[in-house]
Amino acid sequence: MSRVRKLSVMIDYSKCTGCTLCVYACQKGIIRIVKKGIRGLVEIVNKDLCSLCMSCVLTCPSGAVRVVRQFVS
Ligand code: SF4
Ligand code: SF4
Repeated sequence: MSRVRKLSVMIDYSKCTGCTLCVYACQKGIIRIVKKGIRGLVEIVNKDLCSLCMSCVLTCPSGAVRVVRQFVS
């Protein structure tokens, strides 16, 4: 079975302050305000719709949104 390398955005909750700026920066509307205990206030809810526009990465004042490589089957 071959594995495909794919880019994806993720939130580093050790840096996220919960300012919610990324929620308003995302034109796809896939970053939502959620309450998940100590994990933080925001979450990327549907990464399949992400266009990798980088708006959230550039908007985040804390450097908490990163582009990472993921392997999918
Ligand atoms: S890269 Fe763009 S589309 Fe993807 S989550 Fe960030 S702002 Fe939304
Ligand atoms: S912009 Fe950055 S610090 Fe603010 S909620 Fe989004 S990920 Fe967290």
